[in-house]
Amino acid sequence: MTKFTDITLPEPIQRAAKKLGYESPTAIQESCIPWILDNDQDLIALANTGTGKTAAFGFPLLSEIDVELSETQSIILCPTRELCLQITKDIQAYAFYMTRIRTLAVYGGAPIYKQKEALRTGAHIVVGTPGRVADMIRQKALNLENVTYLVLDEADEMLNMGFHDELTEIMESIPQEKQTLLFSATMPKEVENLANKFMKEPHRISEGSENKGAENIQHFYYRVQARDKYLALKRIVDMNPSIYGIIFCRTRKETQEIADKLQHDGYNADALHGDLSQGQRELVMSKFHSKFVPLLVATDVAARGLDVDDLTHIINFQVPTDPIMYIHRCGRTGRAGKSGISITITHSKEGSALKAVEKLLGAPIVWQKVPGGREICEKQLFHFIDTVERIEVNEAEMESFLTNVFKKLSWMTREELIKRFVSVEFNRFLNYYKDIPDLDNMAESQQRKDKSSFSFSTFRLNIGDNLGLTKRELMRYINGLRVTRGIEIGRINIFSDYCLIDLDARYEAELKKAITKNPYKGQSIKPSVSQAKSAPAGSYSKDYGKKRRAPHNPPWQGKKKGKTEHYKDKSRPGAKSDRSSGFKRKSKEKA
Ligand code: AMP
Repeated sequence: MTKFTDITLPEPIQRAAKKLGYESPTAIQESCIPWILDNDQDLIALANTGTGKTAAFGFPLLSEIDVELSETQSIILCPTRELCLQITKDIQAYAFYMTRIRTLAVYGGAPIYKQKEALRTGAHIVVGTPGRVADMIRQKALNLENVTYLVLDEADEMLNMGFHDELTEIMESIPQEKQTLLFSATMPKEVENLANKFMKEPHRISEGSENKGAENIQHFYYRVQARDKYLALKRIVDMNPSIYGIIFCRTRKETQEIADKLQHDGYNADALHGDLSQGQRELVMSKFHSKFVPLLVATDVAARGLDVDDLTHIINFQVPTDPIMYIHRCGRTGRAGKSGISITITHSKEGSALKAVEKLLGAPIVWQKVPGGREICEKQLFHFIDTVERIEVNEAEMESFLTNVFKKLSWMTREELIKRFVSVEFNRFLNYYKDIPDLDNMAESQQRKDKSSFSFSTFRLNIGDNLGLTKRELMRYINGLRVTRGIEIGRINIFSDYCLIDLDARYEAELKKAITKNPYKGQSIKPSVSQAKSAPAGSYSKDYGKKRRAPHNPPWQGKKKGKTEHYKDKSRPGAKSDRSSGFKRKSKEKA
């Protein structure tokens, strides 16, 4: 693996990278930094948000600044005020040991005179939004005659937001001799047109493939009735007690409604949309940044400038109308090498829109069953137990109280004590989730259709009758690998010293790896895959007609009798304040 020290960067930048904890360059940095340092040619780099692209252009740009000149030598254009401030902060951090370099942010929505004043004192690097930068040029407050680097960051977003004219105006006022670096997550024809008009034979670098969601993101979808979407959302959140994510909605009105409902139902959620004042937006964003509010319900436009690295989930309350939007949204999780989950809650009429997203993504979006009550209770309980295990005990402060507590509880056995303290948390979850219907029921026929559109691979495993292997045990073993929830299993044949099992071909590589790593009854398994075939529509029901009874699809989630139509969900049980879980204490509430 390349280290920053293998790249010829000035020593102060190397030191700053180390201070920031950057050990080795990310893929986009590894491709871009040496190339920009060695070439004068224009560059188009395809990179998603969160891939480290700020340093990919920031490091080379800082290496070229001549501090003896006071003029602006680099200009970085980006779509939003928030991103502008973030890039400025990042560049200033990279220039931490280059104290004479001045970097300035120039953006709309703030008084222009202060920014003009700051520009008058000189800035080597200007980071700006197109509207305000164009304004500054018109008012002769910003002179770009000495610019040698022009960076267009998130070019697709800038054009999406209607900045075409401003970009043209700015680019026409910068000398021809500059080097233009265009960074974009996608390459729609508007960006190509801009590049054709203003860039000279640009070199192209692509980090991963164009228009793809990052590889470390898992994509799932749920299918429910349109009117059950909110209930499904709550269950998904409940199933992920440590969720830190954004729920994307289409309109401001819907965004506010969902956030209000979540708050009413006891979740730590807030709304971010264009109807909020700048002050309200900043407050919401700071609460979200600090994880005080771990669930943000937002419109695409409002969430654009939000820069958060460690989101665990992105939830699409509908399939986005434009598939590119999905790529932008999911790019907000799985950043800086971390893993992330992108979830879409769909109803039956969104099937083709989802297919369009899948096509652009170039990867399957995998169907998941909406979690049932028992599954959620189990998850919440173990989350609670984990919290108990991790809690710091303040012995000194508690000692005087504990003596009496120990005395009072001394009549109970250890087991009795555990049972009771677990019940304190668990009873209310059990009551809350008792008898809730299966939200997937309505969409079952569609699920069957979805299932028929993939193929099986036949795995040959060197375990069989001789180890007492049964079909049930084999299914339990496969589900225990936890490659994905509810892995599709087809035909099984068990022989004396081996078995054949059809498994979802989409997970072939992951399954092979997991099987190799997980022995069965002490015997290590060497899987071989002999063939792949389409999954016939009826093959599940024929062989294993009942729902697969495995840890991920336990029997208690079977169809409930009777009540399958829309129902009023109960409010969630009051939970102790727990920022990470997304819940806050609420007494009995109504849905
Ligand atoms: P960016 O795409 O520039 O917004 O970067 C996304 C996140 O990755 C930011 O938090 C950066 O600080 C972080 N980052 C960038 N480069 C590296 C690196 N080489 N090693 C570790 N983290 C990085």
